[in-house]
Amino acid sequence: MNAFQKLGLDADLLKAIEDMGFETPSEVQEKSIPILLEQETDLVSLAQTGTGKTAAFGFPLIQKIDSNSKKTQALILSPTRELCLQITNELKNYSKYKRSLNVVAVYGGASITDQARSISRGAQIIVATPGRMQDMIRRNLADISSINYCVLDEADEMLNMGFYEDIKSILSHTPKEKKTWLFSATMPKEVAKIAKKFMTDPKEITVGSKNKGSVNVSHEYYLVNHRNRYDALKRLADANPDIFSVIFCRTKRDTQKVAEKLIEDGYNAAALHGDLSQNQRDLVMKSFRTRQIQMLVATDVAARGIDVDDITHVINYQLPDEIETYTHRSGRTGRAGKQGVSMVIISKSEVRKIRTVEKIIQQKFEEKSIPDGKEICKTQLFHLANDIKKTEINHDIDPYLPTINEALEEFSKEELIKKFFSVEFTRFFNYYEKAPDLSSESAGGRPTVSEGNTRYFINVGSKDGFDWKSLKDFLTGELNLDRDDIFKVDCKASFSFFNTDEKHTDLILKTFTDYQQNGRYVNVEITNDQKPEKGGGRRKERGGGKRNGKNFNDNKGENFKGRRRSDRNDKKSSRKGSRNKNIENSLKRRRSKA
Ligand code: ADP
Ligand code: MG
Repeated sequence: MNAFQKLGLDADLLKAIEDMGFETPSEVQEKSIPILLEQETDLVSLAQTGTGKTAAFGFPLIQKIDSNSKKTQALILSPTRELCLQITNELKNYSKYKRSLNVVAVYGGASITDQARSISRGAQIIVATPGRMQDMIRRNLADISSINYCVLDEADEMLNMGFYEDIKSILSHTPKEKKTWLFSATMPKEVAKIAKKFMTDPKEITVGSKNKGSVNVSHEYYLVNHRNRYDALKRLADANPDIFSVIFCRTKRDTQKVAEKLIEDGYNAAALHGDLSQNQRDLVMKSFRTRQIQMLVATDVAARGIDVDDITHVINYQLPDEIETYTHRSGRTGRAGKQGVSMVIISKSEVRKIRTVEKIIQQKFEEKSIPDGKEICKTQLFHLANDIKKTEINHDIDPYLPTINEALEEFSKEELIKKFFSVEFTRFFNYYEKAPDLSSESAGGRPTVSEGNTRYFINVGSKDGFDWKSLKDFLTGELNLDRDDIFKVDCKASFSFFNTDEKHTDLILKTFTDYQQNGRYVNVEITNDQKPEKGGGRRKERGGGKRNGKNFNDNKGENFKGRRRSDRNDKKSSRKGSRNKNIENSLKRRRSKA
């Protein structure tokens, strides 16, 4: 008898569980499922994120539903559209051998009529976000007046998002006799209040201690000067070549800024925040799930829905305002039994906050220093060597081999290896050789100004009809400066560079904040490039051509920015030498075939 069978689950469910490859129940499942199957009771079940709460209520719920009746028998409330869809999917997987069971997702941002139609065909289980569910009830599109079960999933998140009144109102349309199952990662006062107000004698299950962080997550902090935050982030990424991460920022603005900078520096990054349309957010999430995005920069609110397994690192670009939020952030990694790391980049003045976090999560932080250039180069070299080892040979290149062999005839294997790695790494080495120590004691950090000058990047160029002269005219006109104030104008195809005295920096950045010309966003940033050669960062362009295609973050002139980005990639590849890039890409293609 397998472990799931012992919990009392029926044959249809056991078959589905086997298909999904679950071998043993998680603790919260082991504790919740028997109670929910055997008793008609209210339940409060607390367990960290990623411990399998969905199945803990999903399995017993599916077993208890009468799929011969088309009546709506259960309502699951969940905080976000993302989660709502995820739960629905999971439930569909669990119930795949229960033919007549229908699970319908109800959430905002999609057609309410379509959702109502699905319900009218008979939805035994409705999975809903509170806002849309309210609409449905108000318009008489769903009948929850005779449900037997109501599940409040991720209750702490729902309350965090201000859904208390909605939940209260929705529950008032449900029968008194129904049973309420509440699942939550943490138990703040608000959740306790819900339990008290809307539940009768709930059984309580706690896995781990309340509010405690996951044991699968280790916590590290890195002390840096405030102005080195971004460079520190880049190093953390470079030191972890296989990083698949969520980076948390405090504001939408920082989120967007950090993501844009990462993209410009050649990383597979995107922003996720509330200023994006639902459609844009969906695209970002899709690319993240399929790993086209390795670094997702997000606000706390936008990241609430993220239940992506295998996230290797959570990076706190800044600590959250509400220290409790840290638990939610770090819970995005270390899911489904895997190990994860939660990193915090902080300045000296924030160290005492780390102590507060330690008390909340009941775990210790390790203080670490930002990896230096040497370490990073070493990691990258070994990583490439490993990639090569794992790569399957592409026989499409066979016809060209004789010529290639001839060209390389004179070299020994050792020499060839050295040359190959030099092709890949010279630029990277050059960057990191000069890179300063970033720990907060040293004054390091690359200057953004030199000799009192500031150099800027602007995202317009000859494709927008500019040459250096007309760009200079445009800038002096917009900024009300003299022609001599703007110099070293270097006009490329889709972007340009120019310099000013540093005293104009504020004026320029201010003028070009949210600045549009003919409906296009003109964006100016300080750049470290003294020549038009962007320093540092990434030699890798994982995901290959894909990066150039869709523009994930753009809530502004889509083609405009998209073009700029791909131009930058082109620029990068020509800098790096297209030969070099081709080697990379062919490695990648073969890898993805494998
Ligand atoms: P939570 O709601 O607690 O945050 P989820 O229900 O989203 O966690 O589950 C996290 C992941 O773990 C999901 O990918 C899920 O499929 C997987 N999972 C759940 N239960 C098991 C199990 N018993 N064995 C293996 N994987 C599981
Ligand atoms: Mg969950």
